[in-house]
Amino acid sequence: MGFKLSRIDTLSERLIEFAAREASRIRYDRNKLQVITGPSLAKISLESIRAVANEVVKERKGLLYCAICRKGPFTKRGMYLHLIRVHRYDLKVLISEELRERIQKST
Ligand SMILES: [Zn+2]
Repeated sequence: MGFKLSRIDTLSERLIEFAAREASRIRYDRNKLQVITGPSLAKISLESIRAVANEVVKERKGLLYCAICRKGPFTKRGMYLHLIRVHRYDLKVLISEELRERIQKST
């Protein structure tokens, strides 16, 4: 396996921002994401971000709730800030798990 765990760790750190945006339904620049991941990991990274986003935020009647600590409802912006401030590390761990799983399957 050509993938070092330290590389997954670094990539996870850089994807936190994007996962928080995806989870909060805030638009982000896909090209910017691809610059960070590189073309070979773009698809896996996007899938991982989406999987984590689905896991950490629940939507009920158009309102956003945190699925990690059950707080809410939040506005999109409030949800984003909550994730970044309170669950930064949780997001990183979840992203790295998703990345590792997907990278292992693809190699
Ligand atoms: Zn929370």
